[in-house]
Amino acid sequence: MALAIFSFTVEKPKAVKTIIIDPGHGGKDQGAGGLFSTEAEVSLKVSKLLGPRIEKEIPGVRILFTRETDIIPGNSRDKNEGLRWRANFANQSRADLFISVHCNSAGKAPGGWYEKRVVGHDEKTVTKKVKGKKKLVKVKVPIYESFYVPNAAKGTETFIWTAKENSHKEQMVGDHAEFAAEGDSGIVVPENDPVINALKLVYTKKYFVNSLRLADLVQQEFTASGRVNRGVKQRNDVGIWVLHATGMPSVLVEIGFISNKEEEEYINSEAGQAEIVDDIAAAVKKYIEALEGSKNGNKETDNTTVNSTAAILGDKKKRLLNA
Ligand SMILES: [Zn+2]
Repeated sequence: MALAIFSFTVEKPKAVKTIIIDPGHGGKDQGAGGLFSTEAEVSLKVSKLLGPRIEKEIPGVRILFTRETDIIPGNSRDKNEGLRWRANFANQSRADLFISVHCNSAGKAPGGWYEKRVVGHDEKTVTKKVKGKKKLVKVKVPIYESFYVPNAAKGTETFIWTAKENSHKEQMVGDHAEFAAEGDSGIVVPENDPVINALKLVYTKKYFVNSLRLADLVQQEFTASGRVNRGVKQRNDVGIWVLHATGMPSVLVEIGFISNKEEEEYINSEAGQAEIVDDIAAAVKKYIEALEGSKNGNKETDNTTVNSTAAILGDKKKRLLNA
């Protein structure tokens, strides 16, 4: 019965071998500022805790960082060159997952600001010229009181790329390892081959569903830790370069509002950072388990994920998910 032993020792290929962790901003681009910390600084700290935490949780996975110090990745000259560098690095590393870590910001100033309101009126005597003659007249003047408005926006949100950028994503998907292996027959395929183009579309859809699945899991973990859940989102106006320029499932996690006094303290605290890292790592673990557990690889979509996010994405994308 020696044959049976061989057949049982065949290992299932890993769904995720390499994960890119991308701490947002860095160097002269510090991102949003809080009362005592910057987005670049906090994102880096959390990312550097997240890497080893995922490695511990998922043995054998390879973690790569786009930056490990306070620089624009790749020592790029500016923010945009840095964004391109981040995406190229992920693509060249043949990564299977891209996680960008950022902090949110809202309102006029971190912490809060002062505003004035009228609380009553006073009478004041002023000199006025009436028909060329100076006269004393009484006028009403408002009494102001200044009050503090705390910068209240708080909570977490996870972004996935906007469907508007699907054609860009398709282009990048074509360079990815998994995709390249699909056509690894030694035959040279011409540019714009309809079969290849169709395959790119299929992969783009698959990566979209997987990104959505992970984003949803991240938000679920944050919610379970008592954080305010602002949901899975897409930025439709400008798009997020790193999300659609990477040929793999990709998410951008906003771990909290640096502009909110309490949340800035939380995302800077040891306990807060440990909780954020626990939540993201748990989501990544569940994501990989879902991919490896599903019978037909990545094709199967989790119904809860699809349903809970379909509300955000609208009917058009619901059709895409069910396709
Ligand atoms: Zn940012």
